[in-house]
Amino acid sequence: MSFLDNIKPSVRALETYAVKGKTLQPGLIKLNQNENPFDVPDEIKRELTEEFLRSPWNRYPEVFPVELLHAISSHVRHPAEGIIAGNGSNELMYTILMAAVSKGTKVLIPSPSFFLYEKAVKVFDGEVVSVMMKDDLSFPTEEILRSARKEQPALIVLVSPNSPTGQSIPVDDVEKILAGTSSLVLVDEAYIEFSEKQSVQPLLEKFDRLIVLRTFSKAFSMAGLRIGYLLARPALCAELLKPKIPFTVNAFSASVAMKLMERKKIVDERIGYIKDQKKILFESLRSLGGVEVFSSDTNFLIFRTRQDAGSLFQRLLQRNVLVRDVSSYPMLDRTLRVNAGTEKENKTFFAVLQELL
Ligand code: PMP
Repeated sequence: MSFLDNIKPSVRALETYAVKGKTLQPGLIKLNQNENPFDVPDEIKRELTEEFLRSPWNRYPEVFPVELLHAISSHVRHPAEGIIAGNGSNELMYTILMAAVSKGTKVLIPSPSFFLYEKAVKVFDGEVVSVMMKDDLSFPTEEILRSARKEQPALIVLVSPNSPTGQSIPVDDVEKILAGTSSLVLVDEAYIEFSEKQSVQPLLEKFDRLIVLRTFSKAFSMAGLRIGYLLARPALCAELLKPKIPFTVNAFSASVAMKLMERKKIVDERIGYIKDQKKILFESLRSLGGVEVFSSDTNFLIFRTRQDAGSLFQRLLQRNVLVRDVSSYPMLDRTLRVNAGTEKENKTFFAVLQELL
């Protein structure tokens, strides 16, 4: 008898979440996690740390962060009772799965998509129903509908804009999927602020099975502080709150998120800059012979070269440029992912890539 006999087989079969090459070495050009290249402004950091020094650290935060929920409510114009905040949107993904997935529950996920969904479904012994993206990496709406009617999944997960492919599913198609199935539909809008397309949020008026997931990690520069939120109808939120781990939103991170929502102009300027840089990077990559770059509705791009992705990734890293090797995803052989950084970072990345190709 080994301790391993007491670990669920579905968990034993998993791998631990790891990010390749994550070294914060000096001078590293870090374009591998779709982060915002700009940190939270210094004056906000100072103001809030001062404030935090005066607050009691021995007391629990609120079970659910009421003030933050109200601030998000005005920011996105959705009732506070229909919002749940968490320690990053990853935590809320697990919350949703805790509520919906047990042994054998089917979850439909277009592929390739953010791998954590598939992994988390397995943790709960659910069954992933995969539907391949179209050849141009756009969403296969008709195929999703066909498969959902046949398999009757409890949950359909649509990451839009999608990672790692970068494309969005049109709102009308999400409406078709909601209307044509009886599943819960989770739309992960982690990258929506960088998108040229509309959010699915207005569909919440029509459908009580829709969940919209968002994060402060990308557009709001808060990846290190961990705040995410979901929008749904209050009745669905009431169910999702039942399995939720209490106290996961710490008071400091909540106050930073509130401050940044007040200072939305700075955030919007940065979003504009990042979108412009992404377009420039797209055009540069498109001009390179032997490189196929895919259109993207996000702050990152994927591109395929003639070379082995693993070795190109390593050679870029040797030159202090860290990107993401996404070549192990279905349909993405020889493909790397790079997010838009500052103009200087993007230029260096491009120059180094050009030399290595
Ligand atoms: N959803 C998608 C599609 C993502 O790419 C990421 C970032 N890796 C997340 C969610 C995670 O966001 P958070 O930092 O809010 O947990």
